[in-house]
Amino acid sequence: MHKMWPSDSNDHRVTRRNVIIFSSLLLGSLAILLALLLIRTKDQYYELRDFALGTSVRIVVSSQKINPRTIAEAILEDMKRITYKFSFTDERSVVKKINDHPNEWVEVDEETYSLIKAACAFAELTDGAFDPTVGRLLELWGFTGNYENLRVPSREEIEEALKHTGYKNVLFDDKNMRVMVKNGVKIDLGGIAKGYALDRARQIALSFDENATGFVEAGGDVRIIGPKFGKYPWVIGVKDPRGDDVIDYIYLKSGAVATSGDYERYFVVDGVRYHHILDPSTGYPARGVWSVTIIAEDATTADALSTAGFVMAGKDWRKVVLDFPNMGAHLLIVLEGGAIERSETFKLFERE
Ligand code: ADP
Ligand code: MG
Repeated sequence: MHKMWPSDSNDHRVTRRNVIIFSSLLLGSLAILLALLLIRTKDQYYELRDFALGTSVRIVVSSQKINPRTIAEAILEDMKRITYKFSFTDERSVVKKINDHPNEWVEVDEETYSLIKAACAFAELTDGAFDPTVGRLLELWGFTGNYENLRVPSREEIEEALKHTGYKNVLFDDKNMRVMVKNGVKIDLGGIAKGYALDRARQIALSFDENATGFVEAGGDVRIIGPKFGKYPWVIGVKDPRGDDVIDYIYLKSGAVATSGDYERYFVVDGVRYHHILDPSTGYPARGVWSVTIIAEDATTADALSTAGFVMAGKDWRKVVLDFPNMGAHLLIVLEGGAIERSETFKLFERE
């Protein structure tokens, strides 16, 4: 008995040492497992960069269910389809078909019908600041096709084109899904098609895998597919309209952001900058702001309202800051000169 104690206590020591060795092994392998898991999760984002919608696009997507590359490629293909389908000039474009048959009912598919209808609804909502019938004016300034004929038109030419502008000249036949343009107006969907394409991109991702996450970007406009790694916000920089810096960061787990600015597509004559966002009430490029950034639930809204906000903010930015949140649009305005104004609701997205 007496002799047994030491050996007993020896056994005890061995056991404890075993426990320690075992737990450190366990902890070690757990750590390695965790690290592997994290690396795997990080690796899962597939990124595709290309050109579509008249700009550079980036698709960043992850899925546990299907190869994310399949999703990204399907999205890119759809973006290319939308690019020509709603182009102002492409021979395959349904917009061109409508414009080329004035005063005639043109039968269209559901997608076209609802997008043109949405465009006119945004025109109604913004008192015509957003107007999808600026086609003739854009043509006059050269802001169509490949931007080969950029020029400052004469006042008379602008007066004439203004007579053939106005969304009320787009007629809808709900029953037969037909559209007609009257009074020589031409439809241009450049202010909304990109947003629509981004919303479609998200739908496509979710049709492959309802739990897919990531985002799609086209020329700085972003649509969230789902939060980063399923739980974190994506951080989106707002570009300085007069430099390469980022002037603000926003954090989004869902929804969309779009910016309209005078710095992407413009030309300068005699020191005056002429850009592609036209004020439908004057026929000239909208003045008074450098950029308007909108956060909204969907990209179609963000896109259309950023164009509208750009036109309106130059006249009365205070009213825009107060009115737009009621339409679900949280906004940041960079006024001419660089002063920044934002809606109270925008601030909610400026932190994690
Ligand atoms: P971007 O395409 O650079 O993101 P916007 O979203 O503001 O910029 O869209 C600008 C485009 O919208 C123009 O190129 C033109 O096709 C069209 N557009 C210009 N002025 C208007 C307007 N007042 N209402 C609706 N669309 C417009
Ligand atoms: Mg827009």
